[in-house]
Amino acid sequence: MNFSNTYVWLDEVFYEKTRPTPVQAPQLLLWNSSLAEQLMISNELKQDPVALAQAFSGNHIMPGSEPIATAYAGHQFGHFVPQLGDGRAHLLGEVLDQFGQRFDIQLKGSGPTMYSRGGDGRCAVGPAVREFIMSEAMNALGVPTTRCLAVVTTGEPVFRESLLPGAIVTRVASSHLRIGTFQFIAARDDHQALKTLCDYTIERHYPELKEEGPNQYIGLIDKVIARQIHLVADWMRVGFIHGVMNTDNTSLSGETIDYGPCAMMGNYDPQTVYSSIDTMGRYAFGNQPEIAQWNISRLAECLLPLINADTNKAIDQVGPIIAEFPNRFKQAYMEMIGKKLGLTSFQQKDQKLIFSILNRLKEKSMDYTVTFDLLTKSLMSEALASEVKNELEECFDLWQKRLSEQRAGPREVQDLMRRHNPVVIPRNHHVEAVIQACEHTGKATLAENFLQVLRSPYEELADTSLYQDPPGDGDEDYQTFCGT
Ligand code: AMP
Ligand code: MG
Repeated sequence: MNFSNTYVWLDEVFYEKTRPTPVQAPQLLLWNSSLAEQLMISNELKQDPVALAQAFSGNHIMPGSEPIATAYAGHQFGHFVPQLGDGRAHLLGEVLDQFGQRFDIQLKGSGPTMYSRGGDGRCAVGPAVREFIMSEAMNALGVPTTRCLAVVTTGEPVFRESLLPGAIVTRVASSHLRIGTFQFIAARDDHQALKTLCDYTIERHYPELKEEGPNQYIGLIDKVIARQIHLVADWMRVGFIHGVMNTDNTSLSGETIDYGPCAMMGNYDPQTVYSSIDTMGRYAFGNQPEIAQWNISRLAECLLPLINADTNKAIDQVGPIIAEFPNRFKQAYMEMIGKKLGLTSFQQKDQKLIFSILNRLKEKSMDYTVTFDLLTKSLMSEALASEVKNELEECFDLWQKRLSEQRAGPREVQDLMRRHNPVVIPRNHHVEAVIQACEHTGKATLAENFLQVLRSPYEELADTSLYQDPPGDGDEDYQTFCGT
């Protein structure tokens, strides 16, 4: 790999230089060939599974790699933890892809670091496969996300409630800058380090802000808001529940990061929660926008000293931008649902139609993905139109009436809807079955079959129908766990 590292040139307050702990018998389980192409990994390496397993387990440190564990803090479920950091991850370095875009290459499960806080630094194969499948699905769905290049099994057990096979996942991210990174530095009251971090972030993700001089830190908040709004609206478009939207899991680049306890919503209900530790429903499907705003408020607090030496003045400058979040989100959200319903241009009066359709879905416990897929297909099929009309009743008629007021014909409307309504999502019961098969067999055959379908989520392939079924029990007892 062609490393060109930048983060490691920052002061050592931002990280620890530390190497992965070698593992006994690394074996490549999952490999992402198209991502490998994009990252221009050499043919020599790509064609040698043993070398790949050595490199992406951390047993062999590739030339140019300068492994570090990054420092960060974070609010976990609303409670501030001043030091978290990569307790089981190593940032191998950064590479430029074929388009000149910079990516972090990070191993997760690669051994303890100074941030491990008593943890073993390891990862079980289940969570590693989950991150690979879910991030690949999200990427194909068009949702901004970190990706996975490889999953390597370690040949070593990890000790959780039971003994589980261990694995290391290679995460590829636009960066690992998190709101928690800013919180870590801000908590140290180190003005210079804070400025360094902000300038680094602007250079890496928002270089256009550099021209804005002293206003660039306010600009940074505004840009992060825009990306988070885009991200969360897109999560809600496909029914994604992140599950652990702590500030350390909120990326400055606006990518989905950390697939620990995530899940997909089946029946439409904004209160849906699957994470076993989210007993209060803080991170429920419908709470995600509010939490994104809360998280950005924590970022803004960190930046106050750079915005104005007078804290009150800084708050006066930033406050209105944060306060605008709900309106900005609502607009993005309504436009997004509008497109799922085939509205070529959203008008304020459409809110009523949108709310009545969503309420209907909730009241009748209807599957979110299936219903929007049916609505899409109903434009070209009378049989399906009457099927969905049976369920939605007068909402269906209102929707049809609204569509008839548009100039666009059914074909054009259907194309628009198709682009926003997947035919298949990584449903929880299929994800779990595939993970279990990987755990038990040590082979990735089922995962590869599943991935093939998930990589074309807007098309019906030969095998798509194997994965479209909603869960028999409506996922009533389904629970996810943080992959620790
Ligand atoms: P996560 O739930 O993956 O966002 O992790 C939260 C924090 O716990 C991060 O600082 C992780 O590095 C740390 N952590 C999670 N699992 C482990 C582990 N097995 N060993 C050491 N640290 C861990
Ligand atoms: Mg995390």
